[in-house]
Amino acid sequence: MLYTVKGLVLRETVVNSNARYINVLTAERGRVSVLVRGAVRLRGRFTGSTQIFCYSEFVLYEREGKYTLNDASLIENYFHLCEDFDRMTVGTYVLNTAEYVTSEEQPEPEILRLALNTLWALTHYKDKELRLIKGVYEMRLAMLCGFAPNIVNCQVCGHGVEDSSMFLNVMAGSMTCKGCSDKIHKATYIENERTVDKMNTAQIVIPLAPASVLAMQHAIYADMPRLFSFALASELLPEFSSACERYLENHVDHHFAVLDMLAW
Ligand SMILES: [Zn+2]
Repeated sequence: MLYTVKGLVLRETVVNSNARYINVLTAERGRVSVLVRGAVRLRGRFTGSTQIFCYSEFVLYEREGKYTLNDASLIENYFHLCEDFDRMTVGTYVLNTAEYVTSEEQPEPEILRLALNTLWALTHYKDKELRLIKGVYEMRLAMLCGFAPNIVNCQVCGHGVEDSSMFLNVMAGSMTCKGCSDKIHKATYIENERTVDKMNTAQIVIPLAPASVLAMQHAIYADMPRLFSFALASELLPEFSSACERYLENHVDHHFAVLDMLAW
């Protein structure tokens, strides 16, 4: 049986000199593993459409739940982001996270769309701060996975974002204002070290400037075409990026090692 699907290549695994597997995120069938024959050698027939960072149309032959590539034609590639090490690293992180949170044969069109939009932003928005793109992606992905925090109101008194610091309770997915937070947490919180709490027991409470909270709200609620169309003061980018990263990592219970390559 032949299927035609569009998908983003997330990973390549070489089997031998004449065969490799590619992991592809498709809108229709979720993540699929596809055997590509004869493509490992230089200038193989499908090389330009089946490498990582390629979004292509694939014709797949399916037999007993296994897919073999029959044909592939490139729609768009994001190879230009590889011209900058940090952008390539964040791009790889996008592929790794998309792979981690999706399942085989479970359609995730919105996650595919987010990954493609983020790779496009990494490739084309040369002046856009990398931390902003990364943080927006992380918070939006957390939302699409069903982990969106309530960061519109203080969980205790119900007030909206105020002028003073707000406090994001990572595992509760909630936010408290400074006054309420002082009462609850006695103003203690864990510093921004990188941890993943496997048991979901630690209180991870991160102080955030009001503008960082508004940026997170944008990442969660903005229409996809406007997702990256905003700015955040450069001095707030480290806390925004770090908080979004910790939020995603703690909710999916996984640390993505590729991030350790960033010199931030
Ligand atoms: Zn409050």
